[in-house]
Amino acid sequence: MFYLATDARPDRPTRKCWECETENDRAVRECISCNAPLSDRRFLLATRWMHERFDATLAWFDKKLEHPGMLRPVDVFIHNERQLFTVVPYSGEGLMLDEAAPLASTRVIDLAQRLAGTLAFLHNNGVQLARIKPANLIIARDNSVRLFDLEVEAVHDGPVPEAHRNAELNSVGHMLRRYCDVEDTELQTFLRAAWEGAFSSPATFGREVDKRYEQFVNGGPTPTIAGMTDVGLVRQLNEDNWGWRKLSDRARLYVVADGMGGHDGGEVASELAVETICRIAEEQEKLQPAGLDALEELFDHAFQTANNTIKEHAEEKGNDMGTTLVSMLLLEGKTALVANVGDSRGYLFRDRELHPVTRDHSLVAKMVERGRITAEEARTHPHSNILLRTVGTERDVDIDIFRVDLQTGDRVILCSDGLWGEVEDRDIQEILSTYSDPRIASRELVKAAHHGGGKDNVTVVVVGIP
Ligand code: CA
Repeated sequence: MFYLATDARPDRPTRKCWECETENDRAVRECISCNAPLSDRRFLLATRWMHERFDATLAWFDKKLEHPGMLRPVDVFIHNERQLFTVVPYSGEGLMLDEAAPLASTRVIDLAQRLAGTLAFLHNNGVQLARIKPANLIIARDNSVRLFDLEVEAVHDGPVPEAHRNAELNSVGHMLRRYCDVEDTELQTFLRAAWEGAFSSPATFGREVDKRYEQFVNGGPTPTIAGMTDVGLVRQLNEDNWGWRKLSDRARLYVVADGMGGHDGGEVASELAVETICRIAEEQEKLQPAGLDALEELFDHAFQTANNTIKEHAEEKGNDMGTTLVSMLLLEGKTALVANVGDSRGYLFRDRELHPVTRDHSLVAKMVERGRITAEEARTHPHSNILLRTVGTERDVDIDIFRVDLQTGDRVILCSDGLWGEVEDRDIQEILSTYSDPRIASRELVKAAHHGGGKDNVTVVVVGIP
């Protein structure tokens, strides 16, 4: 969670000097006591609730390490014994969290190089991180990306031991893969390898990135697609997930999942669902199924496998995780199969109008269908969160599949209920009409969900038909 702190307080008559703490009149430009210039300062405060790692983070702060790849905090402190705050000066930087995918491949590679260098520096100084997430990256005004609010796992006396040197790379691969273009399978495969532990240290990872630099540089990202997920304004955990995969020259797959089950539940279920659907669809597509019926079977098989994978995992763990799923198989860029379970939705945006493609498997959707309540009443109904079907909770799962013949200029939107629950369809339509760039449109949709209350995680994937 982030806070912006500022001493620009026109509501207060005086301002404290940052140098000598003298209270000065607001109109004065230099401190009456020490002559220091009186300028407003702003700070970004990042806070976490991870008790066990507080000591390591404080030990890292005490080392006062400096590196161009990270922001050194002005303070790190513990509040109420359970909340850790990291404070950095703020002058209009952006957050990586606010960036929709895909980024240009060159940008992803630059990020990989920079993170490899910063991690190698930290390791040499005995600092081992738990993981790196988009929330740990700040975008400076010159567009360079820096680590901040480090989640420190341990601080060693000497350099980090060999055996612990590849731990953070899993999270780097996992995170950066998300920002890869759907068409850039080379880079995705490489980062996937990092995620799965193929590199023993940041240095070996960095050398491999350097070696492949030329190979990966393939121009700009596909301008017609975007994907983004956001924790929202209330929850501490993002249990949504999304993904895309180029299955073959003719087929692309897009997925949104909204997990449920709390910590180690929902986020695991939604990720398993996205990964399994992509993997199975890719395997099945290699068999070159012909005709839409065969592709529907492919979809059904992929959903069933995701269902069983999550169910087995839940039984192992002894919890009851599950997830919604909505997925689009785009064929030759002109035919879409959209499949769903639960209340994550697919919409078609055509000629500046938004049309629902999927039907929710929820109690309120059924009540609306039967004329017991109106669609408007369903939005605020006390049972609006009861789902009739989810992935991973029963032995078998029924899926609905919808066929859409696409036209040039169409856009298909896949989203979790964190979007449509906070933003009415006519406002989604308005935003899509206003912003033709899908990356900007998805950011605006997330922002609109925040303005609507941001009570839930929000995920959106926008696919334009060129
Ligand atoms: Ca949700």
